[in-house]
Amino acid sequence: MSKKIKVKTTLVEMDGDEMTRVMWQMVKEKLLFPYLDMDIDYYDLHVKHRDDTDDQVTFDAARAIQKYGVGIKCATITPNEDRVKEYSLKKAWRSPNGTIRALLDGTVFRKPILVTNIKPAVFSWKKPITIGRHAYGDVYNNFEFKIPQAGKAEIVFTPRDGSTPQNIPVFDFPSAGVIQVNHNLEKSILSFARACFTYALSEKIDLWFSTKDTISKIYDAGFREIFDVEFEKNWKDKFKNNGIEYFFTLIDDAVARIMKSEGGMLWALKNYDGDVMSDMIASACGSLAMMTSVLVSPNGWYEYEAAHGTVQKHYYKHLKGEETSSNSMALIFAWSGGLRKRGELDSTPEVINFADKLEKAALGTVEGGTMTGDLLALADKKSSNKKVNTQGFIDTIAENLSKKLHA
Ligand code: NAP
Ligand code: MG
Repeated sequence: MSKKIKVKTTLVEMDGDEMTRVMWQMVKEKLLFPYLDMDIDYYDLHVKHRDDTDDQVTFDAARAIQKYGVGIKCATITPNEDRVKEYSLKKAWRSPNGTIRALLDGTVFRKPILVTNIKPAVFSWKKPITIGRHAYGDVYNNFEFKIPQAGKAEIVFTPRDGSTPQNIPVFDFPSAGVIQVNHNLEKSILSFARACFTYALSEKIDLWFSTKDTISKIYDAGFREIFDVEFEKNWKDKFKNNGIEYFFTLIDDAVARIMKSEGGMLWALKNYDGDVMSDMIASACGSLAMMTSVLVSPNGWYEYEAAHGTVQKHYYKHLKGEETSSNSMALIFAWSGGLRKRGELDSTPEVINFADKLEKAALGTVEGGTMTGDLLALADKKSSNKKVNTQGFIDTIAENLSKKLHA
């Protein structure tokens, strides 16, 4: 191909750590730079650079996403005590994903990458099921207390405006027990709802939302009401015009239906339900290395990444000069997802077309039998299946991509 494809608006790139940093570089060199003319606003989120800048670089990256609209992120170390020692850090900095999510007020959507030669554990699933998990409140920001003996538990609500406090009886304990208090914020639920409607519309897929509203008539029913009101007010027509639906159902019913569905929907869930169900979907679809993740802000900002971490164990092997067979699929899909969104926002079909071809080249590589070790264990057994190393996998995708672009 003679002329490179121009990406109109600047893309925000966030580099990362360990094995994913190694693969990131290979992906850019072999699959992107030869074909794309892009302006990149680069942020190095390597843990040492975050430390050197007192984590300022993470905040700068988030602001850049706010400015340009689309960011693509490599996996990063969230430091714990071991990492503080390993990298001689000043302190255990916060998770970059947490920082970025807070600044963009976003919701994370996780979607598996399906290939024809790896069957999901649920036979009926033909299309990926995306999970949208509300990432605030409920049991994750709860208050828990061990009740030592018989006695009354009450909640006191003291209004900030100085009006009379309310004493609300919770339970009259006849003997020792435990208590838990959960809360959520209307503002956070509304942001979640908006991010879900934005994502479903952007992907042109149905949105399912489910809670236990029959039992929890104020808390869970409150979530439902916020979704319903927001849908009626701002999304109903847009959904209709795009031939997609918003569908609320009781969580029990949703779980039963999902197991018999073809997939292909966004399933929005409260914090705990989303935590559990996203692991179920990931495991049913095979490998962490085949799960993509996008952070969608209700303001229309997007950040694409792989759902997995930095693949630490493989990195240590790589450092020792041993061969690795790490799977770059989700990292490649982070780039293709970000490029496709950029193309949509910029109205540049040639960029969207490139993203499609990149994904097809990557899927075709695995479907053609060339794969990394993690997938070989899952794929339909065929004598033509071939295990390749980290670089070999990307090289084969590069060959397939080149053929597709020259066809
Ligand atoms: P991980 O990087 O997700 O890897 C866990 C295991 O899953 C690997 O050891 C490997 O299994 C398998 N795996 C994951 N991705 C793979 C890939 N692309 N190709 C092949 N196999 C893959 O989790 P971790 O090792 O527990 O965490 C490492 C670091 O990542 C931590 O410092 C954590 O803070 C960070 N992290 C970052 C993010 C993020 O930035 N979004 C998310 C999660 C974790 P085998 O060893 O069996 O081959
Ligand atoms: Mg979980």
